[in-house]
Amino acid sequence: MTEPLLSVGAVETYYGPIQAIRGVSLQVNPGQIVAVLGANGAGKTTVLRTISGVLNAERGSIRFQGRDIRNASPDQVVRMGICHVPEGREIFPLLTVRENLMTGAYTRRDRDGIARDLDICFGYFPVLKERSHQRAGLLSGGQQQMLAISRALMASPRLLLLDEPSLGLAPLLVTQIFDIIRRINQEQGVAILVVEQNAHIALKTADYGYVLETGRIVVQGDCVSLMESDDIKEFYLGQKDAGVRGQRRWRRKKIWR
Ligand code: ATP
Repeated sequence: MTEPLLSVGAVETYYGPIQAIRGVSLQVNPGQIVAVLGANGAGKTTVLRTISGVLNAERGSIRFQGRDIRNASPDQVVRMGICHVPEGREIFPLLTVRENLMTGAYTRRDRDGIARDLDICFGYFPVLKERSHQRAGLLSGGQQQMLAISRALMASPRLLLLDEPSLGLAPLLVTQIFDIIRRINQEQGVAILVVEQNAHIALKTADYGYVLETGRIVVQGDCVSLMESDDIKEFYLGQKDAGVRGQRRWRRKKIWR
């Protein structure tokens, strides 16, 4: 059996006295795309921020490539090969597109590798090459998402954490971005943990999925099984706002592969 690339075990995270994550366990295997679904406030962003070291896990374990990273700083986590694309992208609006991309490579010294990865990013997103000398703040929302993903790729990660890549984007653009996320996974061998409210596109793209509700994993399974599950159809796929309204208590269960 393959050892997981990332293994999160019974993690609990607080904001001051408020417990946001209540014993979350999940795994990402090498080369896998894993989706975490859930309504507003379920704790998806908090899970990613805990893995990337922005927040401390009060309890539980986080292991990456067999190493304990629970108390690692965000900088150490990046150096170990995990890159986080945050919700809202957080690009540097006053820097050019190219300068933004180069900030992603700040941990690296291999000039040839950096040049190669820049070409790879421009191959996935040619518009970034066309606009490489323009200020990033002038890009559209979709282009800023492309830049945020590319900046993370410039760190040469083994695992990408993507927080709501579909946020605020038109449906056609969402499909294009997720197609490229799939290509990056297959062509670069980068594993991906993506949190999304758009369950349809996330389940179509990912291999395995978890549903998070009020800080707990309530359902998990391979994405084909999840898409066939009545609960998922009813609360996450069937209705436009089902993810937001899906506040019912799930029966704890696992949908087996
Ligand atoms: P969204 O899709 O809206 O981003 P989410 O599933 O990512 O939702 P989180 O942002 O992780 O959810 O929030 C989980 C819980 O933690 C929510 O109850 C939220 O109100 C709370 N929370 C998030 N950030 C903070 C904070 N800085 N201080 C206090 N509570 C917070």
